[in-house]
Amino acid sequence: MYQTGSCQCGKINYSFKQEDVLSAHHCHCKDCQRATGCGKATIIYVPNKKLNIDGDIKFYESKGSLGTTIRRGFCENCGSGIVSYAKELPMIRFIKAGTLDDSSWLKVESSFFAKSSSEWNAPDENIKSFEGNPDMLSNIKNVFKSL
Ligand SMILES: [Zn+2]
Ligand SMILES: [Zn+2]
Repeated sequence: MYQTGSCQCGKINYSFKQEDVLSAHHCHCKDCQRATGCGKATIIYVPNKKLNIDGDIKFYESKGSLGTTIRRGFCENCGSGIVSYAKELPMIRFIKAGTLDDSSWLKVESSFFAKSSSEWNAPDENIKSFEGNPDMLSNIKNVFKSL
């Protein structure tokens, strides 16, 4: 089943198959808070090969806390954050869950960077929570080995 999403103005559209989703996470790191203007970003891991994007995405690049270079993609026209990825792991994309047309199917596995979460947007107590993001890179590498 295909899932679709877009930025607010509609210049950027994307789709992927729901069964290609690797996992989904809340990220409470300060960079995600700044990028979204919210207490966290909710991101969906999708293999780049399985993701179709229409429209020109502008990227802002910064150093992530693990020393990786994070590229956050957004619509130049309306500013919606759509997709990001680590430059060192270009084979996987992080879709911002709020841009989905329908996100009711989504199951979020865990929270990252609980240590920088705000009191008014504390990590979900019903799912796993990590102080930082200890295993993101090794998790992704394992996932790709198993594909
Ligand atoms: Zn837009
Ligand atoms: Zn983050």
